[in-house]
Parts: sequence; structure tokens; C-alpha cells
Amino acid sequence: MNQTYNPYDNVLQVVQQAADILGYSDSDIEAIKYPERELKVSIPVRMDDGTTHVFQGYRIQHSTSRGPAKGGIRFHPDVSADEVRALAAWMTFKCAVVNIPYGGGKGGVVCDPTKLTENEIRAITRRYTAAIAPLIGPEQDIPAPDVGTNAAVMGWIMDTYSMLKGHCIHGVVTGKPLELGGALGRNDATGRGVMFTTHNILGKLDISAEGTTVAVQGAGNVGSVTAKLLYQSGMKVVAISDVSGGIYNPEGLDIPAILAYLAADRRNLLKDFNEEGTIHISNEELLELDVTVLIPAALENQINADNADKIKAKLIVEAANGPVASEADPVLTEKGILIVPDILANAGGVVVSYFEWVQNIQSVSWTEDEVNNKLREIMDAAFASVWDLAQEKHTTLRMGAYLIALKRVVDAKSARAIWP
Ligand code: GLU
Repeated sequence: MNQTYNPYDNVLQVVQQAADILGYSDSDIEAIKYPERELKVSIPVRMDDGTTHVFQGYRIQHSTSRGPAKGGIRFHPDVSADEVRALAAWMTFKCAVVNIPYGGGKGGVVCDPTKLTENEIRAITRRYTAAIAPLIGPEQDIPAPDVGTNAAVMGWIMDTYSMLKGHCIHGVVTGKPLELGGALGRNDATGRGVMFTTHNILGKLDISAEGTTVAVQGAGNVGSVTAKLLYQSGMKVVAISDVSGGIYNPEGLDIPAILAYLAADRRNLLKDFNEEGTIHISNEELLELDVTVLIPAALENQINADNADKIKAKLIVEAANGPVASEADPVLTEKGILIVPDILANAGGVVVSYFEWVQNIQSVSWTEDEVNNKLREIMDAAFASVWDLAQEKHTTLRMGAYLIALKRVVDAKSARAIWP
């Protein structure tokens, strides 16, 4: 991986390009370049062996121009201030492109959940929640799951925040367990949105989904649900990977069997999965497979200057946040590879988070069909407007998405004006 990569610089470059096309002055976008508020916290935890360990955490609110900050919490060893800043800014533009009434925020704790016990993860979560409690709340900043966190963690956040406030507050966090006001359909929402988007782009290119090859990098919540839904929709999923590496079968993988194996025990890894006709490959090799659709669904900066010229897919659908570094974009575009950008493709998660929050603050609950149908409407409409604008302006889909999103953020900022 290239060492100089700074994801926040990537965000600023794309924002500047969009601002130039929109004819914005430096003053129009100056405030958007800086996160509104950043909190760094130290989290002391009594580990199971009796020792005390201090973890570092962040909550960063990039923008609240269009509504409360919104965005996940990441537990991962590579979490850094610049990464959380970039992830927070991507949330601002993601919420704007699908036009839900939120700004953008993100949080993270530097830790490796695969090496922690449930007890330790719960202790980190509670102390982190207490540390960021002055910033979060249903009307201020609403966390959600991200890499390394899940519904159980969201339940502990809701509980800790409610205990601190002295009463039950469901709407402080989304992606919760169903019994705590979680939304039906939230668990699958990001992957479902990726599936809708993949079908939308295939439709525009007149490629039938049936039998079309796809490789998915990542088997966390987003990668596994995406693989499951694309498989169910008739596509041929030929490769999938996790941290231990990938598996590949040109005839198509038995995705339900693979996902059942991974779900059986959180220690199960794909490097130990063996099935006839399946070969083991590295994550790098997966990205370079000759497939129609490549879906990076893991971490940022997977496709960069080092490997962009080796990518053979026709289409990249960004299920992860920031998987294609901005330096790789022109190389891929030059090769004729179409990229559906993260802020559009993976917005299904935050859209259903919005549905969860709406249900929580009104104390109502929607059926799973209602959730999925409304998600489809929003994803289809956002895709159509990005596609149309990109055609009209002769830009990439990423630029089409940023033109729509940046205009919405700048319009909201200018309507509010600068106080005082
Ligand atoms: N972490 C997810 C994302 O990057 C979901 C955020 C949310 O639901 O607030 O979009």
C-alpha cells in the first residue's frame, strides 16, 4: 500500500474538481473543506486479564448544514484522525446525494475487535460512548455500524447514552438490534442498495444480470449481503475474500455455503474454506480478475496508482467507502472502466438508518417490505439523477454524484448564511 495516501486529501481533490465545474468561488466551498467539530478521546479499559489498556478514539462531525451529523463508528487497528475525517466528509456527500436530511460525521476506535473478547468490546463501547456523549444525540449526531461494529455494539451505545441521560433514547443511534428499536431491513440495507445499484448500471449498459460475472472483495456485513443478493438475483459470483485472502471459481461460487461457513463461527476464515473447483487467491489477485463487475466492499485505497492499470473488470461498484484512490480514477476511466461511486452505491445503509431514526422519533414501526420498497425508490431515483447529470456534463459518475451533492450542501450553507 502506498504510504503517502491521505484519504482526506482525496476528498478535498474531488470536492475542488466539482466546485470548478459548478463555477463556485473559493469562498463558496471554503467552510466545507474543514470538519466542523473534532473530538479525540482516550478510553481506559480494564481488560479480561486484569490489566488496564487505553484505546484512542475519535468522533468527527464534518458538516451539520443539512441536518444532524450522521455516520458510523469503526473499530479497526488502522483508524486515524485523517481516516475518520475523510469518512465523515463522505457521509456529508452521501446523505446529500440521496437527499436525506443529515450532515456527515464518523467515529472510530483504534482497536482490533478480532483480538478482543465480547466483554472487552462492550467495555470499549461504553466508555467511548460516555466520552463522546456531549456530541451525540438524536438531534445532534447519530452513530451507526461501520467496519468492526455491529447491531450489538449499537445496542450498548443506546443503553449507555440512555443511562447517562436517565431515560430511554432510541433515536441516538441506528443499526440497533430489533428489540431496541432497530429497523427491519437495516442489516441487509447497504448490500441491498449495492445490489439495486449494480442492476441499475447493468441495465444502462444493456448487460443482463443473469450469469454475469462478479468478484466481491470483503465478506463483512456489506460484502456478504451484496454477494448473497447478487447470487440470488442470478449473477455469477466467481470470487469473494476476507482478511485472510480470497477464493475463486470461474464456474461460480456456492455463495450460500460460503456464507453459512463464515456465519458458523466468527473465527472461520476463507483461507480454510475448501470446495471442489475453488482455488485460493490473494486480495490483490481478486481485484485483478477478469470479471464484468468488481465490487470492493472492504476498506479504502484498495485500487490505487500501484494496481489501477492491472484492473480488468468492466465496471466497479464501490461498496466500501473510498476503495478507489483519486489517483486511480483517471487511469481506470482511460481504460474505459465505469465506476459507480461509494457515496451513491453504498448509501443504502444510511438511507435505512434514516428510516430507523424516523420510526424511532415517531414511535412507529414499518414492515420490511415498506423499508425495502422505500429504499429502492430512493436508490433508483438517486442513480437516475447521477447518471443523467454525468451524461449531460460528460463527466464520470463520481463527478455526477459530487456535482449533485456539493450543490445541495453549498445551497444549504448559503441559505443559512454565516453566523454571526
Ligand atoms: N457506516 C455506514 C456508511 O458508511 C452507515 C452509516 C449510517 O447508517 O449512518 O455509510
